[in-house]
Amino acid sequence: MDPGPDPDLVLRSTRVITPDGPRAASVAVSAAEGRILAVLPYDTVVPPGARLESLGDDVLLPGLVDTHVHVNDPGRTDWEGFATATRAAAAGGVTTLVDMPLNSIPPTTDVDALEVKRAVARSAAHIDVGFWGGAIPGNTADLRPLHDAGVLGFKCFLLHSGVDEFPHLDPAGLGAALGEIAGFGGLLIVHAEDPQLIESAPPPSGPRYADFLASRPRAAENRAIEGLVDLARELDARVHVLHLSSAESLPRIAAARREGVRITVETCPHFLTLTAEEVPDGATEFKCCPPIREAANRDALWQGMADGTIDCVVSDHSPCTADLKTDDFGQAWGGISSLQLGLPAIWTEARRRGHTLADVVRWMSTAPAALVGLRHKGAIEAGRDADFAVLAPEETFTVDPAALHHRNQVTAYAGKTLHGVVRSTWLRGHKIADHGAPTGPLPTGRLLERQPRV
Ligand SMILES: [Zn+2]
Repeated sequence: MDPGPDPDLVLRSTRVITPDGPRAASVAVSAAEGRILAVLPYDTVVPPGARLESLGDDVLLPGLVDTHVHVNDPGRTDWEGFATATRAAAAGGVTTLVDMPLNSIPPTTDVDALEVKRAVARSAAHIDVGFWGGAIPGNTADLRPLHDAGVLGFKCFLLHSGVDEFPHLDPAGLGAALGEIAGFGGLLIVHAEDPQLIESAPPPSGPRYADFLASRPRAAENRAIEGLVDLARELDARVHVLHLSSAESLPRIAAARREGVRITVETCPHFLTLTAEEVPDGATEFKCCPPIREAANRDALWQGMADGTIDCVVSDHSPCTADLKTDDFGQAWGGISSLQLGLPAIWTEARRRGHTLADVVRWMSTAPAALVGLRHKGAIEAGRDADFAVLAPEETFTVDPAALHHRNQVTAYAGKTLHGVVRSTWLRGHKIADHGAPTGPLPTGRLLERQPRV
């Protein structure tokens, strides 16, 4: 039998977050092969030829997997780009991201467009990058080829996406796309807001956040999710609700799962840490769709986190240039920039509510990796990629937009004091960020493809 590679690196910490919970351990790694060989007792003798990295009481987590990032590259690279997004991600402890199919030009709605994106990402990615495909009117025949080419699933909108080159599906189009995707065992991820209910709400305009909130009522999310549950059941399809904001939908989702409907759900750091009550007039860095809602809704979302109804927490990092964040909530670009800040933002609120880092790892690494079927990501255990974030969870810092590696430094978190300083980030056994700064200019990220189901 092949004995396998010898470890060339050992990471030792009194607090390693393993699938069985936190423990003092030494994690043996083959950096040459980029994977974890074993999780060993803390005092294990370091084998000859291996370098010891002593982390003391800093916590060793699996690198975060952020399955909801708008990189916007190519086409809107002044908003973000693969180089800047992945450097920011690395600084924030994220080692894998999955790029959304829209806001780049071209959008990822056929294989040619996917190859354009891959060509751009390949030479620029500092972390590993996978891709979502897009389902838009008229591209049903492109879905299977995209699946075969390795996208991790498909995104669609039920109402205007914010960019004209990525149109939304009407109910017939949604049924056709989901039927096609279910036919090859794929996953559809949905921006779930009902277009009629948004149409009939008062349109947003001006600087008042309350007016914007009224233009995106909970009922629109609730109705769209109801419809999605019904369709997933009817077609025996697998669906995922993106960026859940309305906590009122949680009982419906939980009930659907109990009866066997294959539906999963994510929410985002901004819904779990920010509230409508605190958004100042004109502060459109807080604008996103669906919107940040009231404090009571946030508490109910945390209940959904605690009881397991919500599977994942991902950034929905959707930046733009500063000039598009005018002080008019009707006009400003809707999207929150947070890729580098997701871990400390969530940890700050999670710890206050009695959750552990093991919970955070489940929400931000293990579950998102499972969502997209990346079996070699999302946990510290033998055989998985040696992707890590090293965190000082008791330390605090104040968010200084100038310290962010995002291309544009507009962020809703400016000035907030957060718990959890990312000391370093490791990709396949190599340190890629140290104290918030990328370790080198050379990108070592890989492009990821869908893995066949076992
Ligand atoms: Zn998004």
